[in-house]
Amino acid sequence: MKTYAEIMEQLKKPFPPGTVKVSGDGKRGHIPVQVYMSRLEDVAESQWHWRIIGEPVFNFEKNIVIVKGEITLVDAIRQGLGVAKIKNVEASLIKNALMTAESEAFRDACDKFKMGWIDLAPYRDWSKNPGIDVSHQTLIDENPIIEGFDPNIHSVMPVSNRNCIKCKNPLSQNEELLLSMNGIKHAYCKEHVPKQLIKKQL
Ligand SMILES: [Zn+2]
Repeated sequence: MKTYAEIMEQLKKPFPPGTVKVSGDGKRGHIPVQVYMSRLEDVAESQWHWRIIGEPVFNFEKNIVIVKGEITLVDAIRQGLGVAKIKNVEASLIKNALMTAESEAFRDACDKFKMGWIDLAPYRDWSKNPGIDVSHQTLIDENPIIEGFDPNIHSVMPVSNRNCIKCKNPLSQNEELLLSMNGIKHAYCKEHVPKQLIKKQL
């Protein structure tokens, strides 16, 4: 088992060149969630855990969905907030928005462990502040960036780590989504979810 300090040291290391995805105007950069996930897997192995906190919040007036989650790393917990636009109330587009919001929440939580700070410094105004050394910095809370659907990040999601309360099989991301869309708090797989609780299909 590694200590928290050992893991942090490795998590903060710069990613290979080309990791940061830059927006068309060159002003904003982001790191795909898959990159964060594989760094966590490589460095922290079984010593990290991602979970969604509570239910996603839908706001159909503003057409946004908000997802909150947290990463537990050894004994440290950092929360992340993700917001995504819902382009249309079609089930598939709601699902896309949910997954994007979850990705953003995951990314936000990773950021609080200082992952990718060195790589993203050129795109962040605060990183140029003379009082800040990106490699030895104290935590700063940033507001999440509200972005639309990004096909680069919606397809791979962090594992949910819950098991069905009936058969004990691990839940897939789609099963978690189905439960959260229907406001079902207990963990059920597709087979064991009580049918009368399903109002919205994915
Ligand atoms: Zn089951």
